[in-house]
Amino acid sequence: MGDDVTNRSVVSRARAVIPGGAQTGLRAQAYDFGEIAFSGAAGATLEAVDGEVFTDYHLAFGPIVLGHGHPPVDEAVTNTIDEGVLYGTATTPLEVEVAERLVDLVPSAEQVNFCNSGTEATYHAIRLARAYTGNDRVIKFEGCYHGWHDYVDVSVYPPQERVGKRHPESDGMLPEAVEHTEVLPFNDPGALEDAFEEFDDVAAVICEPIPHSVGCLLPEEGFLETLREVTAENDVPLIFDEVITGFRHSARGMQHEFGVTPDLTCLAKAMGNGYPIAAVCGRENLMAQAGGDNTSGVVISGTYSGHPVGLAAARETLRLLETEPVVEEISALGERYREGLEGLLADHGIEGRAVGYGSVFSPQFGVTGEPRNYEDVLGLDEERFAEFARGMRERGHFFTPNPYKRQHLSWAHGERVFETYLADADAVLGSLTS
Ligand code: PLP
Repeated sequence: MGDDVTNRSVVSRARAVIPGGAQTGLRAQAYDFGEIAFSGAAGATLEAVDGEVFTDYHLAFGPIVLGHGHPPVDEAVTNTIDEGVLYGTATTPLEVEVAERLVDLVPSAEQVNFCNSGTEATYHAIRLARAYTGNDRVIKFEGCYHGWHDYVDVSVYPPQERVGKRHPESDGMLPEAVEHTEVLPFNDPGALEDAFEEFDDVAAVICEPIPHSVGCLLPEEGFLETLREVTAENDVPLIFDEVITGFRHSARGMQHEFGVTPDLTCLAKAMGNGYPIAAVCGRENLMAQAGGDNTSGVVISGTYSGHPVGLAAARETLRLLETEPVVEEISALGERYREGLEGLLADHGIEGRAVGYGSVFSPQFGVTGEPRNYEDVLGLDEERFAEFARGMRERGHFFTPNPYKRQHLSWAHGERVFETYLADADAVLGSLTS
């Protein structure tokens, strides 16, 4: 790019050739505090083109669970590339090995199909469920994000006046797809029971076991169990979207921790420590529908599906998650961030809370108590969050200024960055009150 490459020059050139100047609208929110572009990442840090170094709490929306550029994962990828980047036909020992690992680890996984993104995984899962039931209607929960396709990008962040109604998140979505997506409040088992009374054409119920797209909603005792019971009674597949929770919170998925086994599971993000790899897995009789020759049954397709780079990263990441105390350590650290933030909010007399689970945390201002559902998150003070995020950015802590999103920890984060974060949060929160 030449010698005069700066944050500003890169973003200015990006704005000319990339819509909004970044690959997604959410990524462009990083510009809320001025132009910024990145040229390096290592461990827990992210380096901007201008040379500023940040502690990274964004972690690419969550996949980086071991730390950026974790050497064993990168070496595994390099070794795989040496054997050829893509065969794209038949199968490979690597593909079989990673599928077998998932079958061993994830309670619902009897068979596995790989793909490259969480969005593909939820799309495939819904197609499998529709083929199995012969029905069209998909039930999802308000505040849950399952990717950008038309079947599910509904009522993720509805405005107050659209709560309880279908809210397409994007222009250009197929109205028929939106109409076939039923939206229910999270943590309301009665609403699900009522929906099954009302509709006899439900194809699938899809749910994040812990909805992290709005910070963190913890399922109340009995909620996931009711989803399991009601779907089983009606022979409708229950899909757990474990794109965030799978592997970041448990090497066996939250379904193992909660003791609720869905029929289909979607995995991505932390599975490959930043390399593109995702999977849909589940009961053999559902998955086997995809075992045809692309002229019958359910078509699951993709030139890059089961890409050796993603699979090599997944094999090594899963090995480390299983054999090292990664989840335990990052979760314990997450607890300290939440407690630390709660303490600071109280000390400064600022209304707010620190929600989260395991290695995920999210300071939310202007709201108190445990959020049960999307409505409980709606009232949060977006401006105050922006002020906090700006102050923390100035002090070297990077996270998205979107108040509904979350911050993540990796295995490369440790005591030292925790103490710096807390000291800086103290200073920033102190400046908010004055
Ligand atoms: N499901 C959940 C719970 C997610 O958080 C995301 C992405 O943030 C997706 C699905 C979509 O995954 P991807 O961005 O890999 O398509």
